[in-house]
Amino acid sequence: MRSIKLDDIRVDNNRVDFFFTPTKNLQKYFKDNNDLFIEYNHDITDIPKSILVIPFLANIIPLTWITDSTIKLKELDKSFYECLTGLKESYQDMFPNMDFKGDIEVEKLVENTYEPIHEVASLFSGGLDAITTFIRVKDKKPLLITEFGWHDSEIKNSEVWAADKENAVEFAKKYRLDNILVQSNYGNFVNSSKIDHDFAKRLGDSWWHGLHHGLAIISAAIPLAFKLKVGCIYIASSHSHGSEVPCASNPISDNRIKFASGRVFHDGFELTRQAKTKVVVDYFSSIKESVNIRVCFKNKENCCNCEKCLRTILGIVAEGKEPKTFGFDIPEDFSSHLQNFLLNNIKYFTKTNIMFWNIIKQRISENQDNISADFKLDWFLNYDFVKERKFSLINYRVTQFFPIIKRRIGNKLSRKLESHY
Ligand SMILES: [Zn+2]
Repeated sequence: MRSIKLDDIRVDNNRVDFFFTPTKNLQKYFKDNNDLFIEYNHDITDIPKSILVIPFLANIIPLTWITDSTIKLKELDKSFYECLTGLKESYQDMFPNMDFKGDIEVEKLVENTYEPIHEVASLFSGGLDAITTFIRVKDKKPLLITEFGWHDSEIKNSEVWAADKENAVEFAKKYRLDNILVQSNYGNFVNSSKIDHDFAKRLGDSWWHGLHHGLAIISAAIPLAFKLKVGCIYIASSHSHGSEVPCASNPISDNRIKFASGRVFHDGFELTRQAKTKVVVDYFSSIKESVNIRVCFKNKENCCNCEKCLRTILGIVAEGKEPKTFGFDIPEDFSSHLQNFLLNNIKYFTKTNIMFWNIIKQRISENQDNISADFKLDWFLNYDFVKERKFSLINYRVTQFFPIIKRRIGNKLSRKLESHY
């Protein structure tokens, strides 16, 4: 029998701690202190436990599905309880190689209702997807929810969070909106490498990407959405129609989430990343404002030297705009910078990467009249990603062949020598 029992929900002003006990056979999937915490920029002492418990349940439930375990709770919001069957089905459809089982034992279901005061609250990382969604819902004066889920058991200074927060607060101030700020250890309280060790192969995905992050991010926002009477939480899509990959954040499961009188909407799935780039650059050009698009994950600012930064920079260029006005401090000779990057990194490109880059190449080619010649991208229009990747891989293997063989022979020899002593 496998189960996880929620022992205590402890609330202290802005912070809630969930203390729980897994059975011995599940303990390996958690860090030793069995404590999930969330801290908000609002007092949460008046939020009912049946709502507060939602993030705890949502963070744990995918694990109980794949390990066929039971979660034991004292009370739970009725709307959230009722959406769980559909949620489980949507994950089961996404990962047919796994059996999604498990159970919930709740002593009391509570019907919570409210009349919405705010039509929309929108999750806001400051990235391209989130800014696109902001533009689409700005007339509804959304509350902006920004989260950091990577603390360990205690809140410690994080430069990344400080920069994310500053950016979100500045942004909200500029557009006269209010922030909801959330800090947690939801990304760290489970032992994800152990879960991946046991399940990633069958799942065909990692725990965080495939099962956890969507529910973690959305559910952390629910207690404040309840307190502030929000009608709908918007989460911006990272993927788009036609390039679906299994992912914990997707329109089918996200749109099934319900709590009290609130719901969730997965926004922008019909738009490709390039279409979103166009929405963003066109909007900010039309109001003559600059904006920081924050795309470099877990970095204080855009590095301009990783795949995602460079892809976004080129996407902006393809729309005929200047990346510097969108938060990318690109080097003077961008063309050589890009050439160098591809020379060293094309071998790591996946099929999906190549698909994204080809969409941008296509857009540059059709929009050439609007793109400044200073970017010197003629060579890029003839760049064959598949061919270059193949060439680079062969080259890499040839140059690495002798060092690898040498190392292997060396290891064998030293093992032989060791066995003599
Ligand atoms: Zn970067």
